[in-house]
Amino acid sequence: MSDQAPTLLWFRQDLRLADNPALSTAVERGAPILPLFILDEESPGIRPLGGAARWWLHKSLEALGADLQKLGLDLILKRGPAASIIAQLVEEHGIGAIYWNRLYDPASRKRDEAIKSALKDSGRIVESFNSLLLFEPWQVKTKQGGAFQVFTPFWRAAREQVRITRPLLAPEGRLPGFPKAQSETLSDWGLLPTKPDWVGGLRDAWTPGEEAARERANDFLDDRLDIYAQQRDRPDLDISSHLSPYLRFGEISPRQLWAATDHRTHGEITSGGAETFLRELGWREFCHHLLFHQDDLASTPLREEFTQFPWRESPKDLEAWQKGLTGYPIVDAGMRQLWATGWMHNRVRMVVGSLLVKQLLLPWKAGEEWFWDTLVDACPASNPASWQWVAGCGADAAPYFRVFNPVLQSQKFDPKGSYIRRWVPELAGFDDDTIHEPWKVSAVRRTKNYPAPIVELAGGRARALDAYARIKGAS
Ligand code: FAD
Repeated sequence: MSDQAPTLLWFRQDLRLADNPALSTAVERGAPILPLFILDEESPGIRPLGGAARWWLHKSLEALGADLQKLGLDLILKRGPAASIIAQLVEEHGIGAIYWNRLYDPASRKRDEAIKSALKDSGRIVESFNSLLLFEPWQVKTKQGGAFQVFTPFWRAAREQVRITRPLLAPEGRLPGFPKAQSETLSDWGLLPTKPDWVGGLRDAWTPGEEAARERANDFLDDRLDIYAQQRDRPDLDISSHLSPYLRFGEISPRQLWAATDHRTHGEITSGGAETFLRELGWREFCHHLLFHQDDLASTPLREEFTQFPWRESPKDLEAWQKGLTGYPIVDAGMRQLWATGWMHNRVRMVVGSLLVKQLLLPWKAGEEWFWDTLVDACPASNPASWQWVAGCGADAAPYFRVFNPVLQSQKFDPKGSYIRRWVPELAGFDDDTIHEPWKVSAVRRTKNYPAPIVELAGGRARALDAYARIKGAS
């Protein structure tokens, strides 16, 4: 195969030009580049994206396509099983080298290994890289050489064992392009909802793409990093970075964020906000570590005894939770924020999750699936790992008997009720005290439009603990 045989550059969860090792390697090789994105929902075990993430992907591919055009490259879009699409393109265009950045879920890994070995057998250069994470999930090991199950020692070991390399720069100027290969049309993929068009709130809240990611990161690091450690748990103040969907689709890399934080703090990363922020990136790494080492994170509890857990079935309660009509204001605010914007504050994610799996005793899988469909940052690692954490059946989970009380959480983290007032307008007229438990107000002042609580907290808690005692006794 000649050195000048074209390079196929396969974009996946790395929809950016900067700090993209597959792209940089393609540029170094010097041959014409064919950039490709495949919407693969057909390879075995690949989980189709949820509705909100589909919207994000559409917008993100538009942005990536425009950025590649500035380099003189046309992004090719194909839909179907990746292995056959790649085999066909390789034959059709006499491709000499194929580069991509790695994914870590079991189904993608299996698919990619098969593709890699077929391409190698046919004499092509094939290389994959890490761009999604600060370090590879297999790099951090326990003293016995195994996988970690607890975050704190994982993060300590990661900081000791791994050096984080400097991010790569985006290529500049015109790159050797490729005579037009046939592409499908993004609008034909139907990633945007039409009837009804429910994404108005997502459009108002977000601008997907690499440039917007950079701007968000700069705003956060300039204005809010200093107060992040003290106030990130306050949904009313909303000071966290909102970078999760950008990280999810790879419009910014954790390595870029690490380097930018290091730069902002003049290398004093171990202090205050910077330390806490990077630790959160560490949680993201930990979730990928679990995903890598666990075959079916989204369906099987990490703690085996939970396979026997006596979950309730109640479509009515599940729907009330999904719609933000549980009668618990902080929970309803969170669920409505999620529906309107495709995102929810981290503290509130924990509170709504706890009400679902504990006081309502509904399966964590039902919550995980709803989040998968409605979050713009729905992540194959962080979503199931966090749901398992909330349900008490995951790695490093809080003990099952620690049940969040949504009223106390609300009083502590939204003390004046302004987050609630924003998302639950029926309660706008309540004062700062009564807004957390509107059912305590006399019937005259109670709003007719807002439901009474669907579960009584103490009773729900006792029922959950009783259910747990049963599986504990059985194990
Ligand atoms: P920041 O506080 O600014 O944190 C910076 C980045 O660190 C985030 O963008 C995210 O990539 C990462 N991060 C922060 N907290 C966590 C965490 N606890 N676990 C893993 N990564 C973290 N996060 C997702 O990205 N996708 C999901 O699908 C997802 N599902 C969740 C489900 C539940 C039930 C819970 C409790 C948490 C979930 N999280 C998920 C984690 C967390 O809530 C979000 O990452 C965070 O709220 C995103 O907001 P931010 O970008 O402003 O975060």
